[in-house]
Amino acid sequence: FNQNSNRLRIAMQKSGRLSQESQALLGSCGLKINLREQRLIAHVENMAIDILRVRDDDIPGLVMDGVCDLGIVGENVLEEESLQRQLDNEPCDYAVLSRLNFGGCRLSIAVQQESAYDGPASLNGKTIATTYPRLLNRYLKQQGVQARIVTLKGSVEVAPRAGLADAICDLVSTGATLEANGLKEVEVIYRSKAVLIQRKDLADAAQLKLINTLMPRINAVMQANE
Ligand code: ATP
Ligand code: ZN
Repeated sequence: FNQNSNRLRIAMQKSGRLSQESQALLGSCGLKINLREQRLIAHVENMAIDILRVRDDDIPGLVMDGVCDLGIVGENVLEEESLQRQLDNEPCDYAVLSRLNFGGCRLSIAVQQESAYDGPASLNGKTIATTYPRLLNRYLKQQGVQARIVTLKGSVEVAPRAGLADAICDLVSTGATLEANGLKEVEVIYRSKAVLIQRKDLADAAQLKLINTLMPRINAVMQANE
């Protein structure tokens, strides 16, 4: 993985909910990827592309810092990183090339099934656990709600039962996990899908040409799956 090479660098999730479909999408676009399970970097055999396989949380930053040229990541993670970087005055530029048709989920507030909930004002003075403090904070501000946010990187759904929080703000797709933990979904604060992003200052002619070749293929795969 050479910073000075002009191979196009694409960041994708190594293992998780987006990795299979990200890999399948690139495969459908004709990239021959030799993925050895433990490898961080995979070289595409038939195009000037390297694939970097990382935690999804690292993908927005890699693109915003210009370390990778493209990335496939959930909008939830992208928007959270973007809000955080704006606050920290760090680089947060990127362009969305395509909204993809996988990774759909919503970021929702949930409370314990037995607790009375009567709109966002019910959250005043409460403690809410989440992995997305900036997105939650934006929502609470918009609603004029004053609540305490506790940031947890994992196991958010057990926080109320563990007495760590009154409510949670977490990703939901079917709602089964919430139900299994005695929680009910009360507000959807953000709807997310996976997106393909590009770094803003990409200028290399060969790389731009390669992206121009890939985009129609990606859009065709998206349409075929509709
Ligand atoms: P990593 O180890 O890469 O940090 P992770 O555990 O943070 O992985 P995953 O659970 O694999 O992340 O989810 C990756 C992304 O998949 C989420 O950020 C979200 O955009 C999307 N997603 C789709 N449905 C769900 C869901 N039901 N729960 C969580 N994430 C979902
Ligand atoms: Zn993650």
